[in-house]
Amino acid sequence: MTSSASRPHPSSVSSGSSASDSSEVRGPVDIGVIGGSGLYEFLDSHETVEVETPFGPPSDPIVVGDVDGRAVAFVARHGKGHRFAPHRVNYRANLWALRSVGVRQVLAPCAVGSLRAEYGPGAFVVPDQVIDRTWGRAHTYYDLEGPVVHVGFADPYCPRGRSTAIESARRSGHAVGAEGTLVVVNGPRFSSRAESGLNRQAGGTIVGMTTMPEAALARELAMCFTSLAMVTDYDSGVDGGAAVTHEEVMRVFASNVEDLKAVLRHTIAGLPQTEDDEDATCPCRRSLDGLTLPFPLPGR
Ligand SMILES: [Zn+2]
Repeated sequence: MTSSASRPHPSSVSSGSSASDSSEVRGPVDIGVIGGSGLYEFLDSHETVEVETPFGPPSDPIVVGDVDGRAVAFVARHGKGHRFAPHRVNYRANLWALRSVGVRQVLAPCAVGSLRAEYGPGAFVVPDQVIDRTWGRAHTYYDLEGPVVHVGFADPYCPRGRSTAIESARRSGHAVGAEGTLVVVNGPRFSSRAESGLNRQAGGTIVGMTTMPEAALARELAMCFTSLAMVTDYDSGVDGGAAVTHEEVMRVFASNVEDLKAVLRHTIAGLPQTEDDEDATCPCRRSLDGLTLPFPLPGR
């Protein structure tokens, strides 16, 4: 890991942004999507925004565009050409950069394996709980000496984002899991049969390699966060099937990605309107109330 080599203090580094082309920034940007670059191909027009963060650059420059009248910031989680494996993604930089351009509501689509026979390939699950089995990832903003910050994480996901995503997923005609526990494993390898069995026993519904520590980092920045998981396969040993392969995951993902985009579009359109930090009512936005922070938060 290189993260311990230099640990800049967040307040000592600017997080300014600059447009890289001459088109106008639509505003206010309030919604952010962390997903593949294919997810913003549907934008009529967009611009690229370079954002510096105290944690280094995000996986890819932020792309800001218009989705049915809402200004949305996208970041490609795995970078251009899908070059960062799940354990190498700079999650802190990605969330910090999104907040810097104004984002307060994050949608995080991800591909997952199913641990339950009822959710086959193509199903959408909007998890309400998470079990974080990742390790070695920079997972918190609050690791400097100074005021200790413990945020609540009993309910990891945004209630308003979840209900909007569930409603949108139901319009897709796919099977929808309106609740479920997402187990996040470190990867990049898939689980052994024993690990898969353990994750099922632990109450897991689906298993993936991303969105943690994303969800926790969003909470640490008082942002709303909603995971939208698309099932690409049955995890090892589920349903007595063959073990999952990378090729199968890619094939199922490709054949369902248009529907995923449609669900995302509808979710974006249905999300609550922008609220100022001072009077935001969603509990996610109040996660830092009463806490002394070691540095100012970026954005707006
Ligand atoms: Zn929320």
